[in-house]
Amino acid sequence: MEFDTIAAISTPMGEGAIAIVRLSGNEAIPIADKLFRSVSGKKLAEMSSHTIHYGHIIDPKSGQVAEEVMISLMKGPKTFTKEDVVEINCHGGLVSVNRVLQLVLNSGARLAEPGEFTKRAFLNGRIDLSQAEAVIDLIRAKTDRAMNVALGQMEGRLSKLIRRLRQEILEILAHIEVNIDYPEYDDVEEMTHTMLLPKAHYVREELNKLLQTSQQGKILREGLSTVIVGRPNVGKSSLLNSLVQENKAIVTDIPGTTRDVIEEYVNVRGVPLRLLDTAGIRETEDIVERIGVERSRQVLKEADLILLVLNYSDQLTKEDENLFEAVNGMDVIVIVNKTDLPQQIDMNRVKELAKDHRVVTTSLLEDRGVDELEEAIAALFFAGSIEAKDATYVSNTRHIALLNQSSRAIEEAIEGVKIGTPIDIVQIDLTRTWELLGEIIGDSVHESLIDQLFSQFCLGK
Ligand code: GDP
Ligand code: ZN
Repeated sequence: MEFDTIAAISTPMGEGAIAIVRLSGNEAIPIADKLFRSVSGKKLAEMSSHTIHYGHIIDPKSGQVAEEVMISLMKGPKTFTKEDVVEINCHGGLVSVNRVLQLVLNSGARLAEPGEFTKRAFLNGRIDLSQAEAVIDLIRAKTDRAMNVALGQMEGRLSKLIRRLRQEILEILAHIEVNIDYPEYDDVEEMTHTMLLPKAHYVREELNKLLQTSQQGKILREGLSTVIVGRPNVGKSSLLNSLVQENKAIVTDIPGTTRDVIEEYVNVRGVPLRLLDTAGIRETEDIVERIGVERSRQVLKEADLILLVLNYSDQLTKEDENLFEAVNGMDVIVIVNKTDLPQQIDMNRVKELAKDHRVVTTSLLEDRGVDELEEAIAALFFAGSIEAKDATYVSNTRHIALLNQSSRAIEEAIEGVKIGTPIDIVQIDLTRTWELLGEIIGDSVHESLIDQLFSQFCLGK
C-alpha cells in the first residue's frame, strides 16, 4: 500500500518529555532533508537507518536557523508504520515544536489525523486491530497497572488466544464439511460427541473466562467508582484527603464527567479509584444534602465500591443503620474512624451490620489504619489473581461486546447439537462465532469501522 507523507506533534508518554514532530511516509526523509542541516553536512538520505543526528532546522525562506534539534532516522519497514519515519526532537517546548511542524507542512507533508500513524501500522500489516486498540488504551491508561494490561495486549496476548479459539472452530467446521459432503464417510452423531461438543465447550469456557476479566478491565481503564458515605463529622473528608495525599492523584482528562460531583482519581496499590465527592463536600458534608436524594441514590447505585464511615467515639444511630441498608448488596468496606478517642460504638453490632464486609478501624487524625484500608481495597478487587503475569484481560468495550456475541453464538451451536438441530444449522452458528472473533483481531472489518476506531486516537499516535 502507498500513502502520502503525514506529520504531527507526537508527545511521548511520561513527564519532562521533549516535544517531537513525527513524519511517516515515502517523502519523510526528502522533506526532512529540505529543512535539516546536520553538523556533518551529510544528508539524511545518505545516512544509515536507526541513527540519531544533531543539527539545525533552517527556515528555507529566510535561510535562518529556526531550531536546534536531534533527528531520529528510521527507514522502513522496521518502523512502527513500516514506512520511513523521521522524528524531529525539539527541546524548545511548544512554540519551537509548532514552528518545526509548520515548516514540515510547508515542505510537503500533510497534517496527520488523530490515530493515523497507528492506522497506518494496521493497514501496512504491522499490528492487528486488537493491538491497535491497545494503543488507544495505552494513551488513556491512568495507572501503571492499567498500562501493563494495555502493554500485554499490545504484545498480542489477546490476539493469540482469539486465534487459537478460531482455529478450534475452524477444525469443527472442517469436520462438519466432511460430514455434509460425504455422509457415508463419517458418523455425524459420533463426530458431534467426540469432537464437536468438546471443542465447542472449550471455546465457550475460554470466552467466558475472558468475559469474567472484562469487568476488571473496565475498572483498570476507568477507575473504580468509589463513594464515601457516612453521617456528618465522622471523617469522610479526612478520609478523602488522606487517600488523595498518600497516593499519587491521577490527573484526568476524561470528558463528560458530571459537574455536580467532583471526582478525584487516586491510585491505591494499583487500583485506580475514582473517588466521588460532592461539589464542596469539604464544606457541606452531606452527599444527600448537596445533590438531592434522587441523585445521591443514583450515585450510590452506580458505585463500584462504597466506603461507609462510622464514628468510633459515638454510638450507632438510626442514620448509620439506614446507610447499611442503602448499600445492601454492594461492595462495601466499613471504616470505624476516630479510634484515638474513647470508644462509644458497639463493635459487635457493627460487625453484625457489616455481615461479610471488611471492617477496618482507623484514626485519620493520627494516620493509623489507612494501610489496612488500602490493603482491603486492593484485596477486594484483585483477590490476588490479577497479579498473574500471563493472564489476559479484556478492557475494551468493543471487544467485550464482540466476546459477548461470540459466547452467545457458540452457546446456540451447543444447544442446537443437544436438541438435535440439523448439522448445517449448527454450522451457521459456528461460522458466526468464528466471524465475530475475527472482528476482534481485525479480520474482515469494514472500512467505516476502522475509521471510527482510529479517530479515537490522540493526535500524533
Ligand atoms: P465529615 O463531616 O464526615 O466529612 O468529617 P470530617 O472529615 O470533616 O471530620 C470532622 C472532624 O473530625 C474534623 O474536625 C476532623 O479533624 C475530625 N477527625 C477526622 N478524623 C478523625 C480521627 O480519626 N480522630 C479524631 N479525633 N478526629 C478526627
Ligand atoms: Zn467533611
